[in-house]
Amino acid sequence: MSPRSHPEGSTPAPAIAMTYEPVIGLEIHAELKTRTKMFCGSLNDPNETRPNVNVCPVCMGHPGTLPVINRSAVEKVIRVGLSLSGAIAPHTHFERKNYFYPDLPKGYQISQYARPLSSGGWLEVTNAAGETTRIRIRRVHLEEDTGRSIHDPKTKTTLLDFNRAGIPLMELVTEPDLTDAGEARLAAEELQRIFQYVGASDANMEKGEMRIEANVSVRPAGSADLGTKVELKNINSFRFVEDAIRFEIERQSGLLERGEKIAQETRGWDAQKGATVPQRLKEESHDYRYFPEPDLPPLRVEAALIDELRASLPELPAAKLKRFRGEYGIDAKLALMLVRDRRLAAFFEAAASELQRWLKDTGGDARDPKPLQLAANYLTTDIANLLAKAGVPITESRLTPENFAELITYLSEGKISSRAAKEV
Ligand code: ADP
Ligand code: MG
Repeated sequence: MSPRSHPEGSTPAPAIAMTYEPVIGLEIHAELKTRTKMFCGSLNDPNETRPNVNVCPVCMGHPGTLPVINRSAVEKVIRVGLSLSGAIAPHTHFERKNYFYPDLPKGYQISQYARPLSSGGWLEVTNAAGETTRIRIRRVHLEEDTGRSIHDPKTKTTLLDFNRAGIPLMELVTEPDLTDAGEARLAAEELQRIFQYVGASDANMEKGEMRIEANVSVRPAGSADLGTKVELKNINSFRFVEDAIRFEIERQSGLLERGEKIAQETRGWDAQKGATVPQRLKEESHDYRYFPEPDLPPLRVEAALIDELRASLPELPAAKLKRFRGEYGIDAKLALMLVRDRRLAAFFEAAASELQRWLKDTGGDARDPKPLQLAANYLTTDIANLLAKAGVPITESRLTPENFAELITYLSEGKISSRAAKEV
């Protein structure tokens, strides 16, 4: 933070202006892509629009019912843990997190506390300048989602939909290693790609399948102690996450500069005002009275399963990005746009191999990046726009990598103009 001047009438600036550095940690929830819910056979269908159809006595918290662990959900969290180089717990258990809320029929959420499925690990984040930083991951654990409360201010009523209650939910917590709003956004975007690549979650922010909470504090530059943190919650887009963190850093630095204290609280983002607004004071973890879930057995994760899951991991987005740049010679921005969507990346690779063959067959240099760069350009602009308009992924369009590669060869040979290519 740069030192700022004070408005007239406020406390005068100290003789030596203090600069503050931000500290940010993320807590990210993602709904797992499984056929059924976390502890029962009700369907996990994020696209269901009718309320209260995917429910049963277990996820409605009826007395006398018993939960059963969803193996696929456990495996998905392990896949995420492994892709972040986390240590997978050989023994773990579930715990009850007790609190009252109308959308929580059991009066507790089954979660993990003392022993998360995955501990430690890290995430590498590369910024626009190509600098890479390592963000330590604290833990990734498994829990269940709550129902959804729909407040109608007009009729002053609240409706409850329990379709979401009991959907497997993964929680990932980072260490407070992030140092600015842009970096926090990049980290969240990279995590979204990893969740999607390993098939753990579709992690669609608009659908609430991925939810980001940012913990933000500031401290005097160079200080080793952490300042009081504010938790930013209920932010439903990457841009808002970045905006909210940026605002919060300014707000907190301003308070400290004026000699005021920062309240430990939860704040939300008011996009209209462009400001964070207080929501509630933070509860402490002991308020939840966690204890081991007596209705579930402890979980043993066999080494053979971990090996099997590790062996089945796909190439991760960061590695693919590096390879696209090296192998095809396309620039960083285009490569990132391709890698962002795994299906688009696969389509590009199929087209690229056609193009490389064509280059060889026509006596050209198979490593000439120009036609590949051109292909990447069309895919990430004109074609991406057409797909977005039609609302379909490239795998469901009628365009094949072969047709597309052919079009690019015509363009490269000057047989057609770019205008004609766009027309096609
Ligand atoms: P709490 O007990 O309040 O939930 P935790 O220690 O569990 O706090 O941390 C929750 C999240 O907040 C983590 O992502 C962590 O990295 C981050 N965090 C912790 N302390 C700070 C701080 N002083 N400033 C910014 N982020 C922090
Ligand atoms: Mg916490």
